[in-house]
Order: sequence, then structure tokens, then C-alpha cells
Amino acid sequence: MTSDSAVADWFAASRAAVDRVRLAPQAEAIGRVEHVADGIARISGLPDVRLNELLIFAGGRTGFALALDAATIDAVLLDDGAAIEAGSPVTGTGQVVRVPVGPGLLGRVVDPLGRPLDEGEAIDAEDHHPVERPAPAIIERDLVSRPVETGILVVDALFALGRGQRELIIGDRATGKTSVALDAIVNQKNSNVICVYVAIGQRATAVERVIEAVRTHGAPERCIFVVASASAAPGLQWIAPFAGFTMAEYFRDRGGHVLIVIDDLTKHAATHRELALLTHEPPGREAYPGDIFYLHARLLERAARLSEKLGGGSLTALPIAETDAGNLSAYIPTNLISITDGQIVLNSRLFAANQRPAVDVGLSVSRVGGKAQHPALRQASGRIRLDYAQFLELEMFTRFGGISDKRIKTQMVRGEHIRGLLSQPRFTTLRMLDQVALLAALADGALDGLSSASLVTLRERLPAFLDANQTSAADLIAKGEKLGDEDHAALAAAVRRLAGDISPADEADGQGPDP
Ligand code: ATP
Ligand code: MG
Repeated sequence: MTSDSAVADWFAASRAAVDRVRLAPQAEAIGRVEHVADGIARISGLPDVRLNELLIFAGGRTGFALALDAATIDAVLLDDGAAIEAGSPVTGTGQVVRVPVGPGLLGRVVDPLGRPLDEGEAIDAEDHHPVERPAPAIIERDLVSRPVETGILVVDALFALGRGQRELIIGDRATGKTSVALDAIVNQKNSNVICVYVAIGQRATAVERVIEAVRTHGAPERCIFVVASASAAPGLQWIAPFAGFTMAEYFRDRGGHVLIVIDDLTKHAATHRELALLTHEPPGREAYPGDIFYLHARLLERAARLSEKLGGGSLTALPIAETDAGNLSAYIPTNLISITDGQIVLNSRLFAANQRPAVDVGLSVSRVGGKAQHPALRQASGRIRLDYAQFLELEMFTRFGGISDKRIKTQMVRGEHIRGLLSQPRFTTLRMLDQVALLAALADGALDGLSSASLVTLRERLPAFLDANQTSAADLIAKGEKLGDEDHAALAAAVRRLAGDISPADEADGQGPDP
């Protein structure tokens, strides 16, 4: 009996469920591919599609609407277009392109749509956010007041990077642009900053090298790698930086601190130009379409330090741009320089002369970073900026003739020391304490007479030495405070002792290299 009534109940419940289903007709718009070539598909028959809407092609391939005409749409393909034929069906999704966000992305290598490239499992996404999101308004922002420590002395001391700042890394081919950004990422292993590295249009091997380096030297579990290499569809390369920002914003909006590196925007601009020409947008200067400035401005505007009310998170951007023969006044470089809050200019001549990182101190600038610099470092670096600038000028004047003036000679030797101190091999990032100690020692003359080889050894041994010989300066620096004169003297004395241990023979060479 009981089983009969159970069956009757089940039957009634199923019946009710079936009754609830409304079998009303549903309107579905199906468009048609008219023409497909070069990663662009021209589509007819989808009048309701919005700009940037995700479209689904035959076989589940995707694309998004880039240009809307009265009768047709130009869509950029996000997958290989070879399998899409003219005449095949397309449907709209009613949704703009979205990417997965959340902590599940940390430690992963993904393409710009969040599909894994590292042979791991599918991304465990917390949510999906649109790739194009509005930048925070002025009222939602706070002043940039804390630094992102890159561990590169020349950057931290002279062109400090603030949390929420956008600083362009710009230079010719193979001048160490990626290396500067990579060192900054690696150095975050000692901080709470999450890193997002976006590779656009690069060789797969170059990207591999960056990922390997972070795995070896940095904290890969706090990094996201978004890769659209040179062989990826142009559409994927186009959305890559936007997707990277969306993934980074998830953490920013929850009070986290994020550093995003875009490697590089010159290639992104070229992809944008290619797509614009293919969709018949009128070309402007250097054949770029008129909206290229707006494209990068709206992207980089999303970097911000949020107000305390919104959690106080920050998103710092390090976009990279390539120049041709050092020409900073070409179209894309000038655009990017005017959008960002400063630039680190890398010079191929310095790079060839083995000054690495090859930062051109005269052309580089950080427009907001000084305020965010650690007070102790600001104190210590004030002197070298001037000394170094004077030295570079003197060096030019004294290149051809011997100099007899003693004062100028000491200035030249001091300048050489600054130059030696500012060159730094890759993956040898310095802590704040080490940087302040080196600058204090330099100001005190404790490094005078050290050969460049000894300087390298000194820098290697310094962290362990300072940890073993604790001074009060370490505490003050950890607390983010200024140092007194006696702290500077103590630090300089510590470095002097270490320098004395390294190689007494080297110290005989008191004149430094011949200018
Ligand atoms: P591309 O234009 O190809 O992207 P890039 O400007 O990003 O090049 P990198 O790939 O970073 O340059 O560096 C070029 C070469 O210079 C690399 O082989 C790297 O090892 C070397 N290099 C970069 N920085 C340093 C450094 N601080 N010390 C020693 N070698 C360096
Ligand atoms: Mg590079």
C-alpha cells in the first residue's frame, strides 16, 4: 500500500513539475557569416547585437562585435578562424566578453579568456567579469602614498613607484625592459602584492623564460600569467590587457594590492591598428585609427589607489613600450608617456656599455612616486640625484682632456661609484634596509676606493651582514620611519666594516677608473 501511495505522490509531483514548464515559443536570432578572413568575420542578420558582445560561431568558436554597421557586424574572432566558413550560422549571447576572476587564477598560466595554458585543471572561477570595466571615479580614489618596492636601486631611489601609479618602461629592442618588470615581480615575494603579467604578441619562448624565472626566484603562487603570444588570434591579443586588468581588479576591489605588467603596449597598438584597418576604420597618424589614445588611456586609467571607504586596495601598472632607435617622440611612445605618471627610459647605448639596468637618468621621471617613497630612502637618495647629474655633465666635458682640479677629480670618482652602485645584475633585488645602507655608505665615503668587483661582492654579502649586525636603523625602516644622523652613521660604519673585510688589496686602487 505504502509503495502505491509513494508512486502516486511521485506521479503527482512530476506532473506538477511538467505543468510548471512553459513551452512558449522563443525568439532566437541566427546570423550568417558573409565573409571571413584575417581573424575578422563579417556577419549579417543580427541587428540586436551590442558593441563588444560575445558571439558564438559554428563548433562553439567565439568572437566579439568590434564594429556595427546598419546591416552588418564586423566581429573579431577569438579562436582559430580556419574552421569558420562563409554561410555558417552565428548567434549573439546578449553578454559582453567576460573572463573568470577570483583566487583560483593565482599561480596559473591562462589565455586572455581565462582558459588554462598550463595543462592544469579548468579555472575554479569565483565569478565572471566583463573585460571592459569603467575606471574608478576621482571620488573613489585616494592619493598614492605607499611604495611598491621593486628592489632595483636605481628605480626605488630615483624613480620610485607608488601603489596605484602607472609607470611606463620604455626603450629599444633588447635593452632589458622585460627584465626590469620581472625583477619588480620577483621582489614581491617579500610583500603582499599580487602580480599579473600580461604577454602580448611575444615569442612563446620569451614568455616561457619569464614564467620560469618567476617560478625559480619569485612567488609564483601569487602571480597570474595572461598569455596571448604572437601565434594567438589577433582578437585574443587585443583583449589581453583588458582581461589582465579585470583579473587584477578583483583583488584591488577587495582591499588587495596588485602590480600588473603589460608586455608590451606597442604590440597591442599594432594589433589594434591591424584590426581597425581590416574593419575599414579611417587611418590617422602612422595609420593608427583615431581612437588609439582613448584605447590605452581608458585601459591604464583603471590603475588606481582606492579610498579607504572602498577598502584601500591598489592596482599599479607597469606598461612596457618599445621604441625605434631611441625615438621617444614617435606616436605611440608620446601617447603612452602622456597617459602614464612617469617613465623609466632604457638606453641601448648604456646597455651596450654594460650599465644594466640601462636606465637613462636624464630622461626618466616618476611624477607621483616621490611622495610614496620610503622616508628613509628619500632622505638617503636626495644627495645622489644631484651628484650623479653633475657627474654625467662633467663626464661629457672632461672626456677629451685630462683634469687637474682636485675637487673635480673627487667628484668624478664619486660619480663612478654611484654608477657602479646603480648597475645591478638581474634577480639581485635589494631590501629597503640594504638600499638605505648602501646610500648612507656612499654619502659617507665608505665605498670610496672599492673596485667594481668588490662592490658586487659587497652587495651580495650585505643582507646577511646587516642581519647579523643589527642596528636601530633596521627597526625604524621596518616601521616606515625616517632615520637620524646617528643611524646613518651606524649603517655607513657597518658597510665600511664589511668593505674592509672584502678585499683590502682592492682598496689600494683609490683613484677609480680613469675618466
Ligand atoms: P625585447 O625587446 O626582446 O622584449 P627587452 O627589452 O625586454 O627585450 P630583456 O629581454 O629584458 O630585454 O633583456 C635582454 C637581455 O639583456 C637578456 O638576455 C638579459 O639577460 C639581459 N639583461 C637585462 N637586464 C640585465 C641586467 N640587469 N644585468 C644583466 N643582464 C641583463
Ligand atoms: Mg621584452
